[in-house]
Amino acid sequence: MSKVIGHTNGLCPRCLRTIPVTKVVEDDKVYLVKECPEHGPEKVLIWRGEADYLDMDRYAAVHSKPARIAVQEKDNCPQICGLCPDHVQHTCLVVMEVTNGCNLKCPVCFASSNQFYRFNPSLEVIRGMYQTMLDYIEHPIVVQISGGEPTIRDDLPEIVRMGKEMGIDHIELNTNGIRLAEDIGFLRRLKEAGVDELYFSFDGLHGDIYKQTCGRDILAQKLRCIENCAEVGMGITLVCVVSPNINLDRVGEVIEFAKSKVPTIKGVHFQPISYFGRFPISPKDSDRVTIPDLLRAIEDQTKGELRMDNFIPTSCSNVHCDAKSMSVVMEDGSLFPLTSRAFGPPKDTTTVANKTRREIADLWRFIDDSVIFKEEDDGTMNEWGDFVDRAKTHYLTVSAMAFQDAWTSETDRFRNCCIHTVTPDGKLIPFCLFNINSMDGRTLYRHEMWSKFSENR
Ligand code: SF4
Ligand code: SF4
Ligand code: SF4
Ligand SMILES: [Zn+2]
Repeated sequence: MSKVIGHTNGLCPRCLRTIPVTKVVEDDKVYLVKECPEHGPEKVLIWRGEADYLDMDRYAAVHSKPARIAVQEKDNCPQICGLCPDHVQHTCLVVMEVTNGCNLKCPVCFASSNQFYRFNPSLEVIRGMYQTMLDYIEHPIVVQISGGEPTIRDDLPEIVRMGKEMGIDHIELNTNGIRLAEDIGFLRRLKEAGVDELYFSFDGLHGDIYKQTCGRDILAQKLRCIENCAEVGMGITLVCVVSPNINLDRVGEVIEFAKSKVPTIKGVHFQPISYFGRFPISPKDSDRVTIPDLLRAIEDQTKGELRMDNFIPTSCSNVHCDAKSMSVVMEDGSLFPLTSRAFGPPKDTTTVANKTRREIADLWRFIDDSVIFKEEDDGTMNEWGDFVDRAKTHYLTVSAMAFQDAWTSETDRFRNCCIHTVTPDGKLIPFCLFNINSMDGRTLYRHEMWSKFSENR
């Protein structure tokens, strides 16, 4: 039995043209069904659990339109992007790539690093990208410097300092940590220049995982990088790409490890694998980890310490893009989750939609929402005060974002997106849309854009 639950548009994974999409439920699974006039039908799994999928809608926030738009063309999402007048959400996080080179060659790489061209924008081009953020986005402006691998640039501290001097509020660095493991002096210089935290790829605690995700066993360097961060006082969010055949059964140990490294580690961000970059296969349902699959694995492997219902959408982008929990790590090492679906959606979604994902700001909202805990602790205000003090330093976010690929793409999700890649010609493009490629490697944005600004064009 197949039941229709919605309609949107999406992309043909072979030619990337926009085609109508019907959302259907079969056997309690949600699918996108679409048909390209040239390349035929596709049926793609996006969520396991109809009730859970529909329940997310109650978290939808009031969106706030971007302050300015860069392209005038309407009604052609996602083919002419940048932002256009149809976009309904402002920018919360800007991804700025400063190279497409890398000191690794992972078999799975969204950036297809070291391939096709060399994108190494000059400091003046980078200044222009910062200026685009200042022109188009209201403060606070949060940037993630990314690549490729940004630490291969010796002038990275200068890039960071320039951003801070121009008025960027918060800078995170997306890194594989290889150089930072070997060169603690460079890590120190980055911190002094203004890097606020690392967004650090960390796929698990076993060398064999890295052999599959990165092409070689780099666990020792990963652990060394974390030690170096503890030494220089740099906060870290671990970023774990989750694949059904590689590490879905090992996500619990990543959370356990993160708990033991709080407060250096502030969060674990899981990314169910998306099929873009060096990935010319047509994925089957069994190659997919949907958000509920991941949350169930976390619940099982943490033995219920974090449950599915501790995860809520951040209510900023589309409710089916992400899920987030926030907990306090107690003295005995256990997690005290602050987030719960039992609290319902945030009371004032406008406020949520209008602020950034800065963890401390979120922390206070979640502590505020944890009224049940306060009531139960009636008469023990000292304990409550101790708890709040501990929460300020010993918190751990566990979150997930399911990036769209050409198969899973929905224009409704693109239109709501608040995570945007900035380009040297003044555009802001939803991060996953920027990276999406067809089965033969053609992109709508990444390759076309970067080859325009590359050294060997
Ligand atoms: S993603 Fe947003 S800005 Fe881009 S084309 Fe679609 S509506 Fe316009
Ligand atoms: S996934 Fe990251 S670390 Fe791996 S090759 Fe690509 S840019 Fe480099
Ligand atoms: S980057 Fe993609 S998955 Fe993330 S919020 Fe934007 S549209 Fe959703
Ligand atoms: Zn097609």
